[in-house]
Amino acid sequence: MQQAEHPPKKKITLSGLRNAFKLYSYIKPYRGIYILGLFFLFGSSISNLAFPKLLGDLVNSGNEGNLGEDLNRIALLLVGILIIQAVFSYFRTILFVKVTERSLADLRQDTYNHLICLPVKFFDKRRVGELNSRISSDISLLQETMTSTLAEFVRQVIIIVGGIALLTFTSFKLTLFMLAIIPGVVLAAVFFGRFIRRYSRKAQRAVADSNTIVEETLQGIQSVKAYTNEFFEMFRYKEKTLEIAAIGIKAGRYRGAFSSFLILGLFGALVAVIWRGAMLLANGDINAGELFSFVLYSGFIGGTIGGMATVFTRIQRFLGATEDLFEIFNEEVEDLTETISTDPDHQLGGNISTKNLTFEYPSRPGETVLKDISLEIRAHQLVALVGASGAGKTTMTSLLLRLHTPTKGSIEFDGKDGRIIPLSTLRSQIALVPQDIFLFGGSIGENISYGDPKATSEQIIEAAKQANAWGFIQRFPEGLDTLVGERGTQLSGGQRQRVAIARALLKNPRILILDEATSSLDSESERLVQDALEHLMTGRTSIVIAHRLSTVRNADQIFVLDEGSLVEQGTHDQLMTIPKGKYRNLSQLQFIP
Ligand code: ADP
Ligand code: MG
Repeated sequence: MQQAEHPPKKKITLSGLRNAFKLYSYIKPYRGIYILGLFFLFGSSISNLAFPKLLGDLVNSGNEGNLGEDLNRIALLLVGILIIQAVFSYFRTILFVKVTERSLADLRQDTYNHLICLPVKFFDKRRVGELNSRISSDISLLQETMTSTLAEFVRQVIIIVGGIALLTFTSFKLTLFMLAIIPGVVLAAVFFGRFIRRYSRKAQRAVADSNTIVEETLQGIQSVKAYTNEFFEMFRYKEKTLEIAAIGIKAGRYRGAFSSFLILGLFGALVAVIWRGAMLLANGDINAGELFSFVLYSGFIGGTIGGMATVFTRIQRFLGATEDLFEIFNEEVEDLTETISTDPDHQLGGNISTKNLTFEYPSRPGETVLKDISLEIRAHQLVALVGASGAGKTTMTSLLLRLHTPTKGSIEFDGKDGRIIPLSTLRSQIALVPQDIFLFGGSIGENISYGDPKATSEQIIEAAKQANAWGFIQRFPEGLDTLVGERGTQLSGGQRQRVAIARALLKNPRILILDEATSSLDSESERLVQDALEHLMTGRTSIVIAHRLSTVRNADQIFVLDEGSLVEQGTHDQLMTIPKGKYRNLSQLQFIP
């Protein structure tokens, strides 16, 4: 199973940033709240910045011995700032969360709406798991970035720029000295730390590998013993454990070096700054309070620079996620319409003809699946498509529904090019009972009404009766409300098929397509399903794909496909007279007489 991984990091490029800005258009409707949030963010960051300065003043006033007024005033000011900060950060958080949640709901809807309107060929080249993670984890990542990361970034810039400005104000010389040491040391620490994390992941992978050996060999212990491979496995496991030990020891060496580095580098840098500051203090260039707040600011700035590296990584991931999303948005959707009131101009009569129909799947160019097929089906006919597995029968049906576009040639409905008919109007008049039936996890009733969401329960029951499904549905204590389980697994194959037929029946289509609707049934269910099918086929054009259905015998026309070509056509009796004919051969091999 594919895990929902974070998208890969992307380099920060201009086009990436442009995409990110496009995403910010989702915030536009809520910009009032957003700006208010930014105001609170600025406010809390700036008051944060005042903190070390006031602490320094506090030290000074204590140092100068003027207890009382000054000291209390500054302490009160500090408490005041703390309160402001607390209030501001509360409002900042709730405002940003509000904006983000709402704009992400919009973005989620847009992504899903776009996705579901994409043509089938798009889904042929993507995995569902991957698309699913677009909507779930990528968008959650955007959420994190848009609220906390952005806020964090703004705060960091304010603290670094503001902090340095305030420090320069206190002592230019000391600031230069600090800047020459601290940022370099902090960044080195960040990158060193990351290197070690990467290394420990490598160690984890080695451990996982060794566990696989244990698991597999214990599960397959009979095979291990049957092949007397115990000693081989001992050797394999020994190699792995030695590898783990080697990686672990090396990682330990790095970790040791890292803590030495932290002691020497970070604390050394701090000592250096204080040493230099103390000299300035001795010279009377600065006072004790200033030195105190200077050291605090340096710590602030150092910590913030460290945090910025994390923010940077998150921004890179954010750009990766937006790029993936825009890749989906750039795919062209099908031209679908929501209200399908069948315009009399586009009412199908049921005549179908194909002219030189040729097709190859976009995902597999070069392999022609249908070759130059010209055929004619008249309204209310029952026709059968037969041919070996892989001949192109299912492909033919998806071209009729225009799930795919022909590579060459055309399909006409009542003499009219199918492309003139609006896609939704066309599809709404064709019902397909597909080869692998898909039921949604809800109830039987919900699954039937998928054929016509506006149907009343009487209509649903009527459809179920005609599909020969009402008998078994009635026997369930909960009737139509019986849940079918995930993908319909709590129903038998024959029951699933009859639910699907009821669904198609409810749609009341002009053209009905049954793709091997009885292929995996026992003869009792087949008889029931076939009975149902006969109801379904009256008064409309029906296209049946079947291996051993006796309806094929009764078909008005039978089309025989072989490796994508139409090789024979006619009625059962006509085709049976062709010596060495494909149909005759197939029927002798497959049909139950
Ligand atoms: P049938 O229904 O007659 O068994 P299909 O129409 O399903 O045959 O398949 C015809 C050919 O098209 C097969 O070679 C199959 O591998 C190929 N094919 C079917 N679906 C796809 C697809 N989505 N992408 C690429 N090739 C496909
Ligand atoms: Mg098929």
